[in-house]
Amino acid sequence: MNKSLRKAVIAGNWKMNKNRAKAKALISELAPLVSDAGCDVVCCVPFTDLETALAAAGGTNIKIGAQNCHWAESGAFTAEISAGMLKEMGVPYVIIGHSERRQYFGETDETVNKRVRAALDAGLTVILCVGELLSQREHNITGEICSMQTKIALNGVSKNELKNIIIAYEPVWAIGTGKTATSEQAGEANGFIRGVVESLYGKEAADALTIQYGGSMNAENAGELLDKEHVDGGLIGGASLKAPDFAAIVKAAGR
Ligand code: PEP
Repeated sequence: MNKSLRKAVIAGNWKMNKNRAKAKALISELAPLVSDAGCDVVCCVPFTDLETALAAAGGTNIKIGAQNCHWAESGAFTAEISAGMLKEMGVPYVIIGHSERRQYFGETDETVNKRVRAALDAGLTVILCVGELLSQREHNITGEICSMQTKIALNGVSKNELKNIIIAYEPVWAIGTGKTATSEQAGEANGFIRGVVESLYGKEAADALTIQYGGSMNAENAGELLDKEHVDGGLIGGASLKAPDFAAIVKAAGR
């Protein structure tokens, strides 16, 4: 499989960081550093920064994403934001199923699937996060966990809709901990997930799917991780908050 047939995507997950002034400053600093990127560049920002980020990224190659969306179009869901609301703003990407949502906010595989469905129906591109806990890796059930999360999240998603899905393999034990998966672990898990997708949609669709790695990726380790056959990009937390660090990862992905 020629890896270059897949789109490389480097996405930043700002989490609950940066007010509007800081969002504008970060995107303005980042834009010239990534203007010649050899991959897609996405910044997933807090809801309150979306409008500012969209304006700051206008005319650049930086695309903007949200960090979640609800499955209903509207209704009595206090504090939630619908996929249609994001679409109306001009937001093209949304992260769904991030482990922090699963861990702290009760997201289940079923609600992740409903959110994926809603995002696709609204015409958004989904960055779908899957990954195992440390205890699950220690019990040698990384494959089972990733398979289950992937299969349930993609339930009801057609082969054609898969073109609007990016999967981010994010081992929970590596997120925000400074503990990166080795490039072998990342490559193996990403390859395994591609196999799961192949079992659902066939080889051609699986080969075309962008599968990112996420978990303490930084300017130093990005090159080695991104060299792996099945690692097509990264979902970056901490290192996406500083323009030079994020730009260095983007550069590593464009080689
Ligand atoms: C993330 O939040 O998706 C993430 C990978 O965070 P970090 O890069 O900080 O580990």
